[in-house]
Order: sequence, then C-alpha cells, then structure tokens
Amino acid sequence: MQRIAVLGSTGSIGQNSLEVIKNFPEEFRVIGLSANSNIDILYRQIKSHRPGLVCVKEPQAALKLKSRLDLKNIKLFMGQEGLDEMVQDKHIDKIVLAISGSGALSPLLKAIDSCKDIALANKEALVMAGPIIMDRAAKKKIKIIPVDSEQSAIWQCLNGQDKNKLNNIYLTASGGPLRRSRKRELKNVSVSRVLNHPRWKMGKKISVDSATLMNKGLEVLETMHLFNVPPEKIKIIIHPEAIIHSMVEFVDGVILAQLSDTDMRIPIQYALSYPARLSSRARSIDFYKLKGLNFQKPDFKKFPCFGLAYMAAYEGGTLPTVLNATNEVSVDEFLKGRLNFASIPKIINRVLDKHHKKNNPDLEEILKADDWARKEAHKIIENLN
Ligand code: NDP
Ligand code: MG
Repeated sequence: MQRIAVLGSTGSIGQNSLEVIKNFPEEFRVIGLSANSNIDILYRQIKSHRPGLVCVKEPQAALKLKSRLDLKNIKLFMGQEGLDEMVQDKHIDKIVLAISGSGALSPLLKAIDSCKDIALANKEALVMAGPIIMDRAAKKKIKIIPVDSEQSAIWQCLNGQDKNKLNNIYLTASGGPLRRSRKRELKNVSVSRVLNHPRWKMGKKISVDSATLMNKGLEVLETMHLFNVPPEKIKIIIHPEAIIHSMVEFVDGVILAQLSDTDMRIPIQYALSYPARLSSRARSIDFYKLKGLNFQKPDFKKFPCFGLAYMAAYEGGTLPTVLNATNEVSVDEFLKGRLNFASIPKIINRVLDKHHKKNNPDLEEILKADDWARKEAHKIIENLN
C-alpha cells in the first residue's frame, strides 16, 4: 500500500489522480491533499478520501475551510510554509505534484530533501531549476517519475535501454486549438477559443501554453532535464491525433513509440504504479477505426514561443527561468483580458532580450531572475495599455 499526497488535488491532474487512486484501494491510499484556494472542491475530496494532511495555500481560504472541518483527524496546514512542511511528513511515500506554475518549485525541493518519490506533472519547476532539482534527486536517490504524457512515453520507451545509444527523441504535439488558424487571426483570438483544446481537457494555464505551443517549448526543457539529453537531440513533430505520445530513436535506426488513448489517467496511473503495471479501464485504441496517423513540421513563424524556448534551452543559465516567469505573467494577463494572444511571445522576447544571463545559477539566483522577469513583464504590459 502506497501512501500518497496529491498536491494541486483540485486541478485537472489532481482530480484525475484521485480518480485513479480510488480505482485501486488495495494499492494506494490518499493521505495528503492540497489546493491553492478552491476549498469547495477540496472539502468534497476530504470527505471522500479522509486524508490526515491537508494544506490550503491561501490563508483566508484556509481559515474558511478550518471553520467547516472537524479537525480531530486532520492536520491542516496553510500558506507556502505549510505546504513545504506538509510534504515532509514521514507517513507520505509518494507525492503527485500537480500544482501548476512556479509555485511547485519550493514543495518539490522540500519533498526531494525529505526523500519522497515524486510523480511529477508540473513542468514549470523543472524549466526554472532543472539542474538543481535533478542533482538533488540523484543525491537523495529518489525517483522523479513523469506524469506529463510525452515524458511518460519517453520514460517507458527508454526503460531497460542503454541511454548512450539514444539518437533522438521525437516529442509529439497535437498542435493545439489554433493549428489551422492563420497567423493574422491570432491577434484577436478569444480566451474561450484558446481554452477549447481539441484533444485534452486541462487547466487554464497549460491550455493557453498549448495554444501558443509554449507548452511544447517547456517540454523540450523538461525532457532535457528528466533524461539528461541536449536540445539538439529533441525534435518536435506535430501529430494531430495525439495517439503517439512520443518516440525515441536509437543509433541503429530503431524507433520505439508509446501509443495509447488521449487520457491523462493512463500516465498518472503508470507514475503511481511504476514499475508495476495495473489493469485499467482506459479505452484501447481501435486501429480498424483509426483513419490514419499524421505528422507535420511545426510552424516556428506562426508560433514564435517554440523558437524562444529552444533558444533558452541552448543558452541555459537563467534564461529558461526568465522564459518561464515571463510566460506565466503574459498568460495570466491574457486570461484576464489585458493582453492579446499574439503579444504573448513579444513580451517574452523583450524580457529575454533585456536579461543579463547568469550561468550555473544557484537557487537564490534563480529566484532573483524569476522575480526580475515578472517585474519587467508587468512593466512592459502596463506601458502597452
Ligand atoms: P489546474 O490549473 O487545473 O490545477 C492546478 C492546481 O494547483 C489546483 O489544485 C490549484 O489550486 C493548485 N495551485 C495553483 N497554484 C498554486 C500555488 N501557487 N500553490 C499551491 N497550489 C496551487 O492545472 P493542471 O492540473 O492542468 O496542471 C497542473 C500541472 O500539470 C501544470 O504544471 C501542467 O503543466 C502539468 N500538466 C498538466 C496536464 C493536464 O492534462 N492538465 C498534462 C501534463 C502536464 P486551486 O484549484 O485552489 O486554484
Ligand atoms: Mg504534455
């Protein structure tokens, strides 16, 4: 029986994780839950899973939840310090890290330091501080098992293989909701259109990233760190059916691919059960009904976020941190209706241009670059309006 804490349990990955866990009462038990502020969903999850540890990041929301709960069997944490403390609880075996954005970095590092295995959905923390995270995980001998579908695919294809014989990784991308839009249409594209992804139902931030294709750019950095591969070995292929979740090619020309239905419960389940495989209720692919599998080159001109992410991946240092922070601010401003869609890469580009890169940054330098980039992005956006 694995005792699991799901951080970001009220989100898309968090809720899917709880569904998977519920299907295997003999294998997994939820002992920790966390949310930012959505205490209505969290309250229902607490009633259903009866965890002993609960954290609400927003103090006001935490106090509201406290007044609704019987705290006899629950230890309630609040704020960033509360989250960082909760992940160190000695009863937790594995942590599903499904917090969106840079807020995942601090609890991730604390979880690694206290030797918890991680099922990692969040990619922003790796983009910000990949070398520090992977280095600490190696020192503590803990596993970081990817939940992101492409990374899970690569993880599975590399299982038991000699990584020195790897030629290329083919990272697939569905192309997002604007794949067929013309470049000039992108300026006025609405928030609701952007949130309407053709293949995946996800949280708002990653949905916008999927539309700008920054999500795939962030995944290039995520792949580099998780599998210790240089960016020149990571190729992106647009694959609209999203059936092949990624592929790896070895020096002898052999390519291994992982295929499954587009259902995040599949990689979540594998990250929880690894190295075992548990039977699942997921749909099988009906190859007789599949009309075909298509592959295209990504359009770097229409989606400039790709190029920016590759540049940050090649340059390294604090540039990926700045890329991530500026993207988070720009996406948030777009969702609030204060920035048009086509301006997202322009803001990121301007902040990256202004940044004085620091090589091999330590954690303090990363947090400083993150803070600087957010302020710069806000300044530029305010001057636009
Ligand atoms: P959601 O926006 O649906 O959920 C985010 C979760 O994190 C919520 O529980 C939210 O709480 C909580 N949260 C947000 N900010 C903070 C913070 N600063 N501190 C503590 N908790 C916080 O996101 P998704 O589930 O879509 O994505 C989660 C992560 O997984 C992202 O990094 C994403 O890139 C990655 N991922 C997601 C996939 C998907 O299919 N959704 C696929 C692959 C990767 P509250 O509800 O209270 O706001
Ligand atoms: Mg993905």
